[in-house]
Amino acid sequence: MEITTMTHAMQLHAQIIKTGKNDENTPALSKLFTFSALSISGNLTYARSIYNSLHNPNSYFSNTMLRAYSRSPDPNQALLFFLALQQNQQQQDKFTYPFLLKSCSHLRAVHEGKQLHALVCKAGLQADCFIQNSLIHMYSSCGELDNATRVFDRMANRDVISWTSIINGYVDSDRSVEALHLFERMQDDGVAPNDATMVSILRACADSGAVSIGQRIHQIIERNKLDSRANVVTALIDMYAKCGCIENAQQLFDKIVAKDVFAWTAMIAALASHGQCKKAIDLFHQMQALNIPPDERTITGVLSACRNSGWVSEGYYFFNNMEKNFGIQPRIQHYGCMVDLLARTGRLDEAEAFIKRMPIEPDEVLWRMLIWACKIHGDTIRGEHLMNQQLLNMDSNDSGSYVLLGNVYASAGKWHEKARVRRLMTQRRKEKSPGCSMIEVNGIVHEFVAGDSGHPEAERIYRKLDDIAEKLWVEGYQPKLSEVLLDIKEDEKASQLWHHSEKLAVAFGLISTSPGTKILVVKNLRSCEDCHSTMKFISKIFQREIIIRDRIRFHHFKDGFCSCGDYW
Ligand code: ZN
Ligand code: ZN
Repeated sequence: MEITTMTHAMQLHAQIIKTGKNDENTPALSKLFTFSALSISGNLTYARSIYNSLHNPNSYFSNTMLRAYSRSPDPNQALLFFLALQQNQQQQDKFTYPFLLKSCSHLRAVHEGKQLHALVCKAGLQADCFIQNSLIHMYSSCGELDNATRVFDRMANRDVISWTSIINGYVDSDRSVEALHLFERMQDDGVAPNDATMVSILRACADSGAVSIGQRIHQIIERNKLDSRANVVTALIDMYAKCGCIENAQQLFDKIVAKDVFAWTAMIAALASHGQCKKAIDLFHQMQALNIPPDERTITGVLSACRNSGWVSEGYYFFNNMEKNFGIQPRIQHYGCMVDLLARTGRLDEAEAFIKRMPIEPDEVLWRMLIWACKIHGDTIRGEHLMNQQLLNMDSNDSGSYVLLGNVYASAGKWHEKARVRRLMTQRRKEKSPGCSMIEVNGIVHEFVAGDSGHPEAERIYRKLDDIAEKLWVEGYQPKLSEVLLDIKEDEKASQLWHHSEKLAVAFGLISTSPGTKILVVKNLRSCEDCHSTMKFISKIFQREIIIRDRIRFHHFKDGFCSCGDYW
């Protein structure tokens, strides 16, 4: 007999109680217990009361409780329940640990996770594949990728879940190039990927701008008949869009018959980052016409479309109505879009007031956006004031704030103040986080940091840069020295500026691809003014389309112009 409602389950329970067998592990009791614990229409508290009434619950009952708690809104309950089991010296088996480790993953509780790992070893279960997979997932969710890798490397037999968990761990930690290598190894091992693997690896391609690898993954997806999965198609749309191929993304999107909120959101975000803001907003209206409720990411997409176009009144409209119309409370990322929009369009007063009125605590990123805009709009006094008042008190671990303040001073020529910030940064032991750019050539992703000399082709790259510099000077290029941080001599400043990571990546692109090939570079920071104007020159002189994806949006350089219209 099938149990479908809690009422039904309780009626059955009443019958069992009448027979006096309610404290024994009978099949009927186990069935209604499982329904209460695991079904969507179940009742976890009721399941627990059944559990408590048992004289001698076996491990099926305890594991079912753990499983239910681990996926409940309060996974901490699983750990507490396990503690009680241990105190009562109740038996555990290999099914016990995966649910506990899953709870630790949700809770980012690495300390408890390590204790469980020790218990697993004590129980002699460390070679169990299911448990090893859970350990990999736990360590990587907690940001301990080294430990996750250690577990992975020691495995005798790895299944698709092992591979997917470790790949996903690397992607989550922004180590997409290593994730791509792992995927190669997985294929060499002959393990067939599933949809979750494909979603992870497409994210790795998107993050590193590896479009030709992405296209190859697309073929693998079709070969493995995973191209009807909604999550895979959405990941493909995202990958193509982030690799600059917005048309491919649009084609895939148009082919989906029943589009879910994730597909709509991916396409809206794609259009927004390509600066096609009107299209993004039109799409949002179409989605509403179809009665598909947006989620908070959809709204972020719409707001970033407004931000990337400088559409202040539209931005205000969507922001002010998101709660009323869609029941979505503004979160930090929504505030972030608004602050950036106001600040970038030069409404510095309004942006500052906006941050101060926020009902949630503004984070460092928000203040940084405003200070960055102060620098662009030449309001050094405000920038400096906000910096001292807001950012330096936060004692953040991020060196970005210090670099930014240094920039504010540098652009005002206040080298003395700039030196003070640098001292402060050293005192607080902040390392300047390096700008990093990636470019894929012939299926291999190359990474560059500023002033990099580690690349095997470094000599040729620097020679190419000299060649570019000569041609640019003839065309009238002037370096934007205000972008340089250090109080060093003018000619050194120029050379430092000239070795920014995206310039190295583009120079490498020029020497290693045939004339006319599009160059795509992905960068982890916002583009600097000097690199931006250099790219315009290069696109004209070398007749190349150059696409740069920075942290915020795409810049599509062609014939000396950029698609952003110099607004970013
Ligand atoms: Zn630069
Ligand atoms: Zn641009």
